[in-house]
Amino acid sequence: MSEYVPVDLRRRVRDAFFSRCAYCQTDEALTVAIFEIEHITPVSLDGQTEFDNLCLACSSYSRFKSNRTHGTTDAGLECRLFYPQQDSWLEHFDWTINGTVIVGVTDVGIQIAARRRSCYNWFERRRVSVWVDQDNE
Ligand SMILES: [Zn+2]
Repeated sequence: MSEYVPVDLRRRVRDAFFSRCAYCQTDEALTVAIFEIEHITPVSLDGQTEFDNLCLACSSYSRFKSNRTHGTTDAGLECRLFYPQQDSWLEHFDWTINGTVIVGVTDVGIQIAARRRSCYNWFERRRVSVWVDQDNE
């Protein structure tokens, strides 16, 4: 469920995440969608509309996460999801050598990385992003 987030707070969150999805690092400028200001702890679970509980998320991840705070590992164990305002992205994820695919390095990261690998459109956007970044160096 969408909750009203004041414009100044939306801008602050977007700036804090450099206009990239907090989970998959996709740059909003490379998509045709406007990313969502997501409640990390959902409003339905008493998450508050305050900076520390908000992040920028692509629509793909936002749909995947929905109102969950936990997922399931490959071994079938319950595991919390990545918490962008508290967790270090580099602690839970890495990139493949060509920088196009996220690899989860913890159970927290693996849940999201597995989700992203299944999205061909995302992969293509990331491939273009890496190509553009290398071209500008
Ligand atoms: Zn994303």
